[in-house]
Amino acid sequence: MIEFKQVSKKYPTGQLALYNINLTLEAGEMVFITGHSGAGKSTLLKLVAMLERPTKGEVLIGGRSLSKLGRSQIPNYRRRIGFIFQDPHLLYDRTVFDNIALPLRIAGMGQSETRRRVQAALDKVGLTGRENTFPLMLSAGEKQRVGIARAMVNKPTIILADEPTGNLDPELAQDIMFTFAQFNELGATVMIASHDHALVERMKKRTIVLQKVD
Ligand code: ADP
Ligand code: ADP
Repeated sequence: MIEFKQVSKKYPTGQLALYNINLTLEAGEMVFITGHSGAGKSTLLKLVAMLERPTKGEVLIGGRSLSKLGRSQIPNYRRRIGFIFQDPHLLYDRTVFDNIALPLRIAGMGQSETRRRVQAALDKVGLTGRENTFPLMLSAGEKQRVGIARAMVNKPTIILADEPTGNLDPELAQDIMFTFAQFNELGATVMIASHDHALVERMKKRTIVLQKVD
């Protein structure tokens, strides 16, 4: 499903972020990417999301190299990916419902289907009944769950999360990880970058450790 073949990434500054990465993820797998700060975890996820491109090697999705995607195909490809950041970057002047509905509206989905999908996403992250709340009224954990619902609402086949629990206390962090595991059980391929070793160990999933390259 996701394959890295001899992938290296050097930023224009000359900083080498990844060196010769070989990695295969099966469809429906859930993996953690760990390693110290600066080890290249974010870069690895960005290569899958096509937010960055490799300097050497290839990233293949479903057997096809991302380097062969034309400019016009990239938005379509990105729609298959849900990206979750440490800070969910919610729109504070919109309700929870409108925040989650955003990707569907961008995709031009009709009202009733949008409502159905948003309710389903709210249900999966445990926020049913909070649709008319504004983000300022939510706890940090709830805000992050809104961010997750927004990333999931158009049913991405690949879920990428970059330190999704970085701002949360341990109990909430574990809840969030279980939410990802639920989406994984529904069939999504999930990659989570985290430097929280204790939490990653408790999840008992495949773990890839990146070493910092210089
Ligand atoms: P991690 O997520 O494990 O902390 P990153 O992928 O963010 O690691 O960074 C890997 C290395 O690449 C670090 O040395 C970092 O400073 C560098 N780096 C990351 N993004 C950029 C960028 N946009 N420009 C230059 N260097 C970068
Ligand atoms: P075909 O010509 O075989 O029908 P296209 O190249 O036109 O395939 O792509 C069809 C759809 O698949 C597009 O929406 C495109 O974004 C997506 N796609 C193409 N290549 C890839 C790839 N390597 N990984 C993921 N999606 C891809």
